[in-house]
Parts: sequence; C-alpha cells; structure tokens
Amino acid sequence: MKILVVGGGGREHALCWKLAASPRLTKLYCAPGNPGIGQVADLVPVSATDVPAIVAFAKQSAIDFVVVGPEEPLTLGLVDALEAAGIAAFGPSQAAAALEGSKGFMKDVVAAAGVPTAAYRRFTDAEAARAYVREQGAPIVVKTDGLAAGKGVTVALTLAEAEAAIAEAMEDGKFGKAGAELVIEEFMEGEEVSFFVLCDGTHAVPLAAAQDHKRAFDGDEGPNTGGMGAYSPAPIFTPALEAEVMATIIQPTLDHMAARETPYKGVLFAGLMITAKGPRLIEYNVRFGDPECQTILPRLTSDLLPALLASRNGHLDDVTLLWGAAPSLTVILAGQGYPGEPKKGGVIQGFDAAGSVPGVTVFHAGTKQTDAGIVGNGGRVLAVTATGTDLIEARTRAYQAVDLIDWADGFCRRDIGWRALGK
Ligand code: ATP
Repeated sequence: MKILVVGGGGREHALCWKLAASPRLTKLYCAPGNPGIGQVADLVPVSATDVPAIVAFAKQSAIDFVVVGPEEPLTLGLVDALEAAGIAAFGPSQAAAALEGSKGFMKDVVAAAGVPTAAYRRFTDAEAARAYVREQGAPIVVKTDGLAAGKGVTVALTLAEAEAAIAEAMEDGKFGKAGAELVIEEFMEGEEVSFFVLCDGTHAVPLAAAQDHKRAFDGDEGPNTGGMGAYSPAPIFTPALEAEVMATIIQPTLDHMAARETPYKGVLFAGLMITAKGPRLIEYNVRFGDPECQTILPRLTSDLLPALLASRNGHLDDVTLLWGAAPSLTVILAGQGYPGEPKKGGVIQGFDAAGSVPGVTVFHAGTKQTDAGIVGNGGRVLAVTATGTDLIEARTRAYQAVDLIDWADGFCRRDIGWRALGK
C-alpha cells in the first residue's frame, strides 16, 4: 500500500516510524514532514493545510490511504476532500472534527449524550458573559469557542481574571474569530489524564492513556506549552476507570455523533479530569496528542496500519491491539525562549549516540536540514522517547539519551514523570 501521512511534527514522525514497520506498506510519503521523517518516508513539499495540493498529490501519486496527523487540516475538511476524490483517508470528517474545532459544539454534543462533564453556558455577548461569571463566582473557566493554539483557555481563580479573559477575547479581539463566542464552564478539580481511542463511526477500541506536562519548567512552573513530555500508561487510569470512561463518556459520544449523522471516525483524544466524583470529560481533540503519540506508539506491538484502515472502513470490531508490558516516557527538547520566540539555527549533534541507548527513539519535530547539519527550527524540536522494564528505567534511559544530544540552544524539563514517580 502507498501511504501519505499529512503533517510535519513529532507526532507525524512517530506515525511514520510506526507505519514504516508495517508489512503491508510498499511506499511511504509525508507532507511536509521533517528531516527525521525523511529517514523513513519521501518528503512532499506541500503544506499540511493546503487541501487542494494534498488531494492533487494523492491522486497523481496513486496513494491508497492518507493518514492525517494535525487538527487544522481535519477542521478544514481534508478527509472529506480526499474521500470525494476517491482516496481513502484516516481521520474525522469536517463535521465530526468540530468536536475539537468548536468547544460550544462539543459541549452541546456531550450534554445531549449525557456525558459527565463541567456545567457550561455559551456566550456571544460580553455583558451577558460578565453577568454569568458574577453570578457563578470564581474559580471559573473561560474558553474561546474556536481553536486558539492551546491559549484560548483561562482557568480564572478570581472574578477579575475571568472578566479580563472575557474582555480580551470578545472586546479586544485577541483570538480573532475564535474568540467571538465563549464557553464558560464550571471549574473541576482533580488529576488530568489523556485517553486515546480509535473509532470507526460505531465502535471504539481503546489505545492507551498518558499524562503530559503542559508547563514549560520543572515543578509545573512557567507558561503553558504544547506539552514538554509525557508517560504511558498513566498509573492513575486503572482498568476499572478505563471501562467506566468507555461506557459513560466514549460510547455515548459515538452513539450521539452517529445519530446526528456526523459519525466519528479516527482517533478520539479525551482530556479527562479524574475528580473525587469520578472521571469527567474536559475536552475532545480529534487527533493524536503531541507528545503523547510519540509516547504511546512505541508501546504498541501490533501493526498500526490495519487498525487505521479498520477505523476508516468501519471494521474496528475485528481489531485487537497488542501492547508491550514496558512503559514509556518522552522528554521534549525545546528551543530556548519557547513557548515565546524560540532560538533557531543552532546545530544539533549526538543523534546516533542518543538513539543507541537501549529502548530509545529520537523523534524530530521542529528541525531543519542545512549544510551545517540538522538545526533547531521551531519551539518543540525533538521528542526523546524511551521504554523500560518500569517507568524508572524508561525515565533513566530517556534522560541518558537527552544528555547525549549536543545542542546549546535547547532546554528540557528534568522532572517528566513526577506524578507517577515522585520528584
Ligand atoms: P489543549 O492545548 O489541552 O488542547 P485547549 O485550548 O483545547 O487545550 P482545554 O483542554 O479545554 O483547552 O483546557 C486546557 C486546560 O485547562 C486543561 O488541560 C485543564 O488543565 C484546564 N481546564 C480546562 N477546563 C477546565 C475545567 N472545567 N476545570 C478545571 N480546569 C480546566
């Protein structure tokens, strides 16, 4: 099979790395990819969001199956456009991708499906939003309806913070159209878990759970980022909790999406809060997490490709996925300055030494090939994943590999896994 993966981050490197091991693969392409992906796939110089150009390339190259990594092309309708052109594609339709693209839509769907989640109201008027937060009191959570690169959520501990968030989004236009509507919701307390399932419109197969680290610095200090590291499985997410989440959150959502004729296919990423009253849904994302994908896929011993095909074809009830016993842990190396403007252009060395540590895979995210060698070219630049007989060994190996990477412009957190392992 000729496969095209769309995207160019660490998540897509992990997807390409795993798909490259499939006996059913004959040729792998990635658009636009990155230098690490270039070691296992042919790179196609087309942006992940250029829907017509991706469809044209897939037709012209007789691609059998397209795997879409990031949310933006999904919300732009890439899967619909490919399928309309007769090309099979993995991921949700544009209508189903609204589960991530519009928080108001997602909340309406899960409320109608009876899923346990934070109480909420939707607002298009700043004055009404302010009146609501005054009535509810703090803490309270203010969210832009549309995609805002992870920056549209304010967990307001005071009314003043909540009112400032409302003004920024609705009156100052800080998030453009994404902030014209707000969802204001109840504050939930607990430990967060990311849970990934594969869906085929009707059935759902659990993949795995992971915990990530959103803050830039050790001790969960500093600004929010796209994620500085993760580990899997998440010890807090017991088999009993998984079964409860499948029955009370995932399946009711799938059933409701099917009933409203927007069946959900692809990876469904449930952001969960494990509260004293049980698991609650925070949000859905319509794709693999980054860096959770780089953490989870090295644990999967089954071939990924048949499972992705079954998701698209509606046959997930025939799929059993096998997972290795070894847990895994990922450390992100980011450019200094991230999540602000990162330092770019510094040469990175030591890939071979790092990759030769047992159980370690180094995934590329924001790298670039230059005449001087591979350089940092983004915020999050590398994802170093290690598996081990236990999480302690996985962490030791991951940091051993990180220390073999020679990159003056980079930084990482040194405490990935602290929730499961202690400091
Ligand atoms: P992400 O980058 O995780 O996709 P996002 O912009 O889609 O972020 P959410 O996941 O909805 O937004 O919220 C971001 C974070 O804010 C959550 O991971 C959680 O820590 C916190 N949060 C969101 N909703 C609530 C809530 N109702 N109660 C408490 N904390 C919340």
